[in-house]
Amino acid sequence: MSDSHDTPRMASFEEIDQVLHHHQSFVLLSHVRPDGDAIGSQLALGYSLIAAGKNVRLINEDGLPENLAFMAGAELIETPPSEPLDVEVAIALDTATKQRLGDRALNAASKAKIWLNIDHHVSNPGYGDLNLIDSTSPATGQILYQLITALGLPLPAETRDAIYVAVSTDTGSFQYPSTTATTYDLAADLIRRGLDVGTINSNIYDNHPYRRLQLMCVLLNSLERTPDGKVASWEMRDQTRIELSLTPDDSEGLIDYIRAIRGVQVAVFFEELSDEKIRVSMRSKDRRYNVCEIASEFGGGGHALAAGIRMRGPLEDAKALVLAAIQRRIDSAGI
Ligand code: AMP
Ligand code: MN
Ligand code: MN
Repeated sequence: MSDSHDTPRMASFEEIDQVLHHHQSFVLLSHVRPDGDAIGSQLALGYSLIAAGKNVRLINEDGLPENLAFMAGAELIETPPSEPLDVEVAIALDTATKQRLGDRALNAASKAKIWLNIDHHVSNPGYGDLNLIDSTSPATGQILYQLITALGLPLPAETRDAIYVAVSTDTGSFQYPSTTATTYDLAADLIRRGLDVGTINSNIYDNHPYRRLQLMCVLLNSLERTPDGKVASWEMRDQTRIELSLTPDDSEGLIDYIRAIRGVQVAVFFEELSDEKIRVSMRSKDRRYNVCEIASEFGGGGHALAAGIRMRGPLEDAKALVLAAIQRRIDSAGI
């Protein structure tokens, strides 16, 4: 665990209840390039608050990705308006640093008097007025499920389905080690509440655009592995994005294919972005190779087994720096 910051004080459910109860207008935010947990958390809490009679706006810097457009109620996700919203409370969900909400989203929420920060990233410094950060939770959606049920907030169908998407996607379909009996209990409860498991899983996992597989061909051709087989990586050039008309969600989860190689301890995906920055995505199979700590060396963050960085290019330089940092960790771990 990174100790570069003091552990923030955690808010109690009662304190959060007070804020939700005593205010009427809310903006819910999540991180740039949103994943299933980000959008799922916004829809889950959003529809619960709407059912409780609140005024709610759901803003994301990059808007709704195509792969999550199937989600019930997803049409409420908006890109940031140019003027700040008149809202009392801003709630950041699934977002490790305030900056990762994006500049335009931050501007949209700038009139909020109170900030809630609800998240499960171990690297979250606690930038809210009230912070609910549980790094043992596999998904922000699971924290929200616990909050909503503990406070007796409404749990409409949109919320139910969104919690499932959030938790399923952040656990790799209930596979990663952060998945506990609590997570399966949550899923069972959602099914009892009427969730259609077959349909929702088919929408999440069996509905990829063809171009995603074309991207996979390109990635496979760039696959590399260290001589000891512990680190595997692949890369994507900006040119590929243009040629295949890719959207950011097209690469979501592909890194799991290299993480799954026998002997690989750390998997890395290098992506050249259009702004000449490099996005680095890392996955580990073993907590002794803590990729969040490696990401922190470059100003990134995340979780012990899944972390990311946005850093300066060119790609070759970023790659050399990150692969060297990983190698240092592996050497010093001595295992
Ligand atoms: P990704 O590889 O983009 O799926 O990200 C893996 C995990 O690390 C997710 O939980 C992200 O929210 C987090 N993460 C990714 N990039 C960053 C970053 N630049 N700073 C902090 N956290 C990040
Ligand atoms: Mn996320
Ligand atoms: Mn998450």
